[in-house]
Amino acid sequence: MSMGVFDLMAEHGHEQVAFCWQPDVGLKAIIAFHDTTMGPGLGGTRMRAYGSEEEALRDALRLSRGMTYKSAAADLDFGGAKCVIIGDPAKDKSPELFRALGRFVGGFGGRFYTGTDVGTYPEDFAQAARESGYFVGLPVEYGGSGDSSVPTAHGVHEGMKAAAQHLWGQPSLAGRTVAVQGVGKVGAKLARLLAADGTKLVLADLESGRARQLAAETGGTAVSAAEILEVECDIFSPCALGGVLNDETIPRLSCRAVVGSANNQLAEDRHGRMLMERGILYAPDYIVNAGGLIQVADELHPRGPNPERVIQRTRAIGETLTAIFRLAEALGIPTSEAADRIVAERLEKTFRLKRVRLGRGG
Ligand code: NAD
Repeated sequence: MSMGVFDLMAEHGHEQVAFCWQPDVGLKAIIAFHDTTMGPGLGGTRMRAYGSEEEALRDALRLSRGMTYKSAAADLDFGGAKCVIIGDPAKDKSPELFRALGRFVGGFGGRFYTGTDVGTYPEDFAQAARESGYFVGLPVEYGGSGDSSVPTAHGVHEGMKAAAQHLWGQPSLAGRTVAVQGVGKVGAKLARLLAADGTKLVLADLESGRARQLAAETGGTAVSAAEILEVECDIFSPCALGGVLNDETIPRLSCRAVVGSANNQLAEDRHGRMLMERGILYAPDYIVNAGGLIQVADELHPRGPNPERVIQRTRAIGETLTAIFRLAEALGIPTSEAADRIVAERLEKTFRLKRVRLGRGG
């Protein structure tokens, strides 16, 4: 490894990294804690055939940091953590592997809660949950809260209304044109919400049949995955993959705002400024796509889950965004920077609040 583990942790102030190994079931997992000021670590478990241990570690560090921001921005009482399993989800999964993970996670005694991410499914965690009680997003029959893409799509929809209010003085999306890149679990649900608003839809997916079918259902238009970036529209909505806003794509955009569910949309932080300079209002991804996290976090509410609270908190995404848009405008900074500042302030306030001890265990 070119840099030591502690050097990598020091780059963004990570608290802890745990390496979990059980060779007989082929489990090699890394659990990274970034910042637990807000509460216990909460973040998904990703399974991927990483090219090297360093790549896996870097991913765990990067993703756990992202969770700190997402939770704090949504004002959830959880900190940033993430688990990665080194292995091919198509070949290396077994019930025993997830049960072994369940025991390692249980060993943290409530410092870490986890659920699905790329490469893992609710059923995998039904196995893990046999060993300890720190899993969220389980299948509904095991007490989970169900498909997280539903609140995620609602949150993006709220984000679009907040962007419309900011740009055009009213939240209505009727008659506006929205171009959706990727109509999978989130994108398709979002498109249906927008169709009900009377929005004109332009849809694209690498699986072109999916976009064509949804366009027929919603009265929209389907274009190819190559064309979607250049569609003239009011809002471009990336709901497929990360890194989509970069040096090559930003000059090609023909929209007034970017509001979508994809994680890590900015290829680099500086692309937030590039969007601002092009006059495009960017709704920071970790604010807009927090609906799914809000739902799984709610499963852990001390007084039990409550779907109504999930809806309310998801609606509040619009208010958070409005505050970010205003702050960015007032300071002349990119919205991505304004969002980071709001998170930093919230962490600072919570840190100060927690100086007062609760007594044993608090
Ligand atoms: P998904 O896999 O169901 O859908 C993604 C869709 O994008 C697929 O239909 C895929 O064919 C399409 N796609 C991939 N590359 C494309 C391209 N270049 N052009 C056009 N289409 C392309 O995933 P999802 O659950 O809908 O999530 C979408 C995005 O939102 C992901 O980035 C995910 O990380 C993020 N996200 C999802 C949730 C959630 O609750 N599901 C929560 C937060 C963030």
